[in-house]
Amino acid sequence: MCKSDALHDEIGNNHIGTSDYTPLKANAFDISDDEKIELIKKDVENILNTLGMDLTDDSLKGTPNRVAKMFVKEIFGGLNPAKKPSSSTFDNKYKYGEMLVEKNIVVYSTCEHHLLPIVGRAHVAYISNGKVVGLSKMNRIVDYYAKRPQVQERLTIQIVEELKRVLNTQDVACVIDAKHLCVNSRGIRDIESSTVTAEYSGAFKNENTRKEFLNYIQLETKF
Ligand SMILES: [Zn+2]
Repeated sequence: MCKSDALHDEIGNNHIGTSDYTPLKANAFDISDDEKIELIKKDVENILNTLGMDLTDDSLKGTPNRVAKMFVKEIFGGLNPAKKPSSSTFDNKYKYGEMLVEKNIVVYSTCEHHLLPIVGRAHVAYISNGKVVGLSKMNRIVDYYAKRPQVQERLTIQIVEELKRVLNTQDVACVIDAKHLCVNSRGIRDIESSTVTAEYSGAFKNENTRKEFLNYIQLETKF
């Protein structure tokens, strides 16, 4: 293994992200989704062939196309800025000045170091600066950034940065608690452990505000 391969292996094995931004090439969207699906289909065929699988078997015939479509349209669909949720906001007409918390947002993402699932919950909060967003907007923002090859720390920061931009406020927080299947199902195979990341901005850097947020997300919601 060459020196730079060893370094990259070390970074991946330790789940270290190298930037707040998803490392995309400048030409990432020069070809269409359909062209990407055709190329990835051949790549998946190659992987299965190399592993020795018989792709003429009825059960495997559709797999390369299915995986390629899933990569481009579903689990990595959030790479495409065209799919970013609209940033429409509303006036805070009730003059509600306390924090608003959207908790237990389901997170389905993919670890960019192993291409295995990250599954968990995100809890997002903001304090309105005159603007509010529809409640489901927070779920959509989480889902958009989750649908990329990800590092959990980066996902947490990207959600906060996007909400800061949309709501025109610094007062935003996000906590994510998630299981990484690369840790749970392979390697150390620890099925119990989960990873918690948090990003606090503006008023949430204040200890009392942060505690209030953390208390809310511990509430058990009963119907
Ligand atoms: Zn991983």
